[in-house]
Amino acid sequence: MVPLAKTGGLGDVCGALPIALERLGCQSTCFLPAYRTIKQSGLAIEATDHAFTIYIRNNHVACRLLKTQLPGSTVNVYLIDQPQYFDRDGLYQQPGGAEYKDNCERFSFFCRAVAEAIDRLDLKIDIAHSHDWQTGLLPAYIRTRHGHYPWMSEAKSVHTIHNLAYQGRFWHLDMPLTGMDWRFFNWEQMEFHGDLNLLKTGIVFADAVSTVSPTYAVEITQPELGCGLDSILAGRGENLVGIVNGVDTQTWDPSSDLHLPQNFSVENWESGKAANKRQLQADLGMEQNPDVPVIGIVSRIADQKGWDLIIPLLELWAEQRHLQWAILGTGDPKHESKLRELADRYPNKMGVMLTFDEKVAHRIEAGCDIFLMPSRYEPCGLNQLYSLRYGSVPVVHSTGGLRDTVIDATNESLQAGRANGFRFDEYSLESMQAALQNALDAFAYNRDRWKQIVQTGMQEDWSWDGSARKYIELFNKTLGR
Ligand code: ADP
Repeated sequence: MVPLAKTGGLGDVCGALPIALERLGCQSTCFLPAYRTIKQSGLAIEATDHAFTIYIRNNHVACRLLKTQLPGSTVNVYLIDQPQYFDRDGLYQQPGGAEYKDNCERFSFFCRAVAEAIDRLDLKIDIAHSHDWQTGLLPAYIRTRHGHYPWMSEAKSVHTIHNLAYQGRFWHLDMPLTGMDWRFFNWEQMEFHGDLNLLKTGIVFADAVSTVSPTYAVEITQPELGCGLDSILAGRGENLVGIVNGVDTQTWDPSSDLHLPQNFSVENWESGKAANKRQLQADLGMEQNPDVPVIGIVSRIADQKGWDLIIPLLELWAEQRHLQWAILGTGDPKHESKLRELADRYPNKMGVMLTFDEKVAHRIEAGCDIFLMPSRYEPCGLNQLYSLRYGSVPVVHSTGGLRDTVIDATNESLQAGRANGFRFDEYSLESMQAALQNALDAFAYNRDRWKQIVQTGMQEDWSWDGSARKYIELFNKTLGR
């Protein structure tokens, strides 16, 4: 939940959606583990009078409730403070990448503590909206009235899948940690190939399930991207919907972004982006030349994001092309070391930063000409939306949310004034190369076309307002209103 804690797009969504809901008159109260990053964030955190224990693994484990607010709003955020579980270096894994061994225990505890906290705070809940595997137990508790809390008989649950590939799968003997009866450990509910599966649990027990784009909502009901849960998801029928994420327009606004050397809007994007490009080239130690196209990438370095296509392309084009790359990411050590090697060999072509750095992310979005996002699959994707807003033309694989938000520049879409980027259908080096080539050609030889594509993207409204309205529709439908 940005700015409290973040590992990826889920953090952006959970930081922005409650505020957007609040603007539309839908009050939200949020719950989060009291992660170390939150305690160290400098946010004002208050103690509350609430402290209680949860019986887990034959122990009464104590926690207390802390309280803060989402900055810039009156949205209350309650933090489940259990330092042994949550005051750690990482959220789900150690900094080196290994998952915490007790994740099932940590997040079972969290869900049970949230159920208890709602009761103690006497919150009147219409909808409990939970996210990803970490909170998949909450819909199950509500449906089965676990803990016999009165609030559960009034509440409906909506579970949102941000990425189906991360399922929270644990060995079967973790089942008692959940507090759920063994009778729920069957293939139609909590069990998955002999293991306990917390995302499946959320999908099965929630009154409604959503994911973060309409195309992804369809893709995950099919074997190719269903990660083994396609038939369960298909079984949810109309109770599975896709809602594209919005952009946090305060954080991501080129006209007021404090990270940028020069602000700009659709009125003066050409000079504004030129200044940002110059600075980006300098920051990355590359020649400051306005005519050399800069291709940006900001991404987790995971196979999902298309690195098995990107690395070969970098190698292929390094000698042949007069191009510059601005790459920011962390992740897979194998790809990281290849990127380091390329950056050493071609310092004037490859600007590579292998860190997690918000400021650089903003500067790349503002300073590049083309933004490449060839994800193998992409539930929604945020960076292509930031790119559109920052006048960087996205080149994307036609999947999930990328397909729902990027309109390929064809003669028809250009004539209709809808083209905002370039897409390729087949996940292959050749197709990606062809789409990038189309973008590079337009950049170099067809400035009118280029301007139209940039301006169409910059003028689109991807603010949270529209997405939040769709969530409210879904909540109302789930409540039978
Ligand atoms: P995912 O959630 O799958 O990682 P998204 O595109 O939905 O992908 O969201 C990624 C978010 O994380 C964006 O806000 C992006 O700017 C940010 N991000 C990813 N890697 C980095 C990085 N190395 N430094 C800064 N921000 C990053």
